[in-house]
Amino acid sequence: MGGMTAHPFDAPASQALLERALAVTPGGVNSPVRAFRAVGGTPRFMASGTGPYLTDVDGREYVDLVCSWGPMILGHGHPAVVEAVSAAVSQGFSFGTPSENEVALGEEIVARVEPVGQVRLVSSGTEATMSAIRLARGYTGRSLIVKFAGCYHGHVDSLLAQAGSGVATFALPDSAGVPKEMAAETIVLPFNDLAAVEEAFAARGSEIAAIITEASPGNMGVVPPAPGFTEGLRRITAAHGALLISDEVMTGFRCSAAGWYGLEGPYAAGAPDLFTFGKVMGGGFPAAAFGGRADVMALLAPVGPVYQAGTLSGNPVATAAGRATLQQCTPELYARLDEVADAITGALDTELGRAGVPHTIQRAGSMFSVFFRDGAVGNYDQARDQHVPAFAAFFHSMLSQGVYLPPSAFESWFVSGAHDDAAVDRIVSALPAAASAAA
Ligand code: PLP
Repeated sequence: MGGMTAHPFDAPASQALLERALAVTPGGVNSPVRAFRAVGGTPRFMASGTGPYLTDVDGREYVDLVCSWGPMILGHGHPAVVEAVSAAVSQGFSFGTPSENEVALGEEIVARVEPVGQVRLVSSGTEATMSAIRLARGYTGRSLIVKFAGCYHGHVDSLLAQAGSGVATFALPDSAGVPKEMAAETIVLPFNDLAAVEEAFAARGSEIAAIITEASPGNMGVVPPAPGFTEGLRRITAAHGALLISDEVMTGFRCSAAGWYGLEGPYAAGAPDLFTFGKVMGGGFPAAAFGGRADVMALLAPVGPVYQAGTLSGNPVATAAGRATLQQCTPELYARLDEVADAITGALDTELGRAGVPHTIQRAGSMFSVFFRDGAVGNYDQARDQHVPAFAAFFHSMLSQGVYLPPSAFESWFVSGAHDDAAVDRIVSALPAAASAAA
């Protein structure tokens, strides 16, 4: 199989910006997944986005299949969001007091996800998972957390063990700088392996505060839970008095109006106790949330003893963007996202097959990714067992033809409601050459 990383055209303006960036920030990027380390070449510095397209500083246009790693479910610059943001900005940027926009966003979330009785707004997914874990520990009086290999929950110390996303892309087992005492509070288990979960709870169940899981993982590529897995987690945690935290930062309001829960739940054994959200609910601005059972949320300050806070939490501009975005998340939008995902995955399967490239495409709602291997992927070991150089060749061919994919074989691809037939056609017509490049 091939895999020579090709860089078919230069990107002089991006390269010049990269050089400036390298002088002031490590790797020239403010989040590692934006670097092209795994695929080689110059990361494209984007200048603007409109609908399904991004334009880089060299003036080249790309169909965007990253969508800011999930948030841009309506595409770039959706008029309803522009209008809501402009109106909010005209009233001031941040008050450090309660304000109406944050209440309205909280109401949108609670109305959509049935088991969520109360929410607290924060500014990033990392804050949401960090706070949910603290709350679970406060509620149970226990300290151990169970997470699954290949799941990424942000860069929380105790959750960086065998994490997905950039940690997977750069093949790190965990992160330096996390005290071993902290890592010892985390039990890492293989995803989709209920026997391993049973075993861990049999050994230490009375010390475990919570299981945190990506509702449907997208940070090791797309690896949906096997039928019965999430329900099994609910059954086991309930039996041992531990909480179940469903991390819907990526899937929330993307897989359906009620996220992954809306597709897979409700569960016979009960709903998760806590949920975390981010990405789509901020509409491209920094807004995230954690929420769930009202009796658990009541432990948060100022009501209860679990402390959590944020200067910009519930920011009026960010929450206006989030609310306007969620209001556009209609059944018609989800139907369109599915249609677009069907068209792309269908053509991808055909072209990779025609070129004789081993591949497996996996879906969770409209989220999808391709593993360059034969056979279904159910866990992190299987996700890593793929031909990454083939992905790099595929990526660069797509890039040179004006399609922007995540620069990693371990990330979901995202589509938007702005991906019209012309954008889909551009993607589909780039596939034959990209498939040949990967062969
Ligand atoms: N949880 C999941 C499932 C995520 O995908 C991410 C980010 O990709 C996070 C948490 C962290 O969110 P943020 O990057 O906003 O801190």
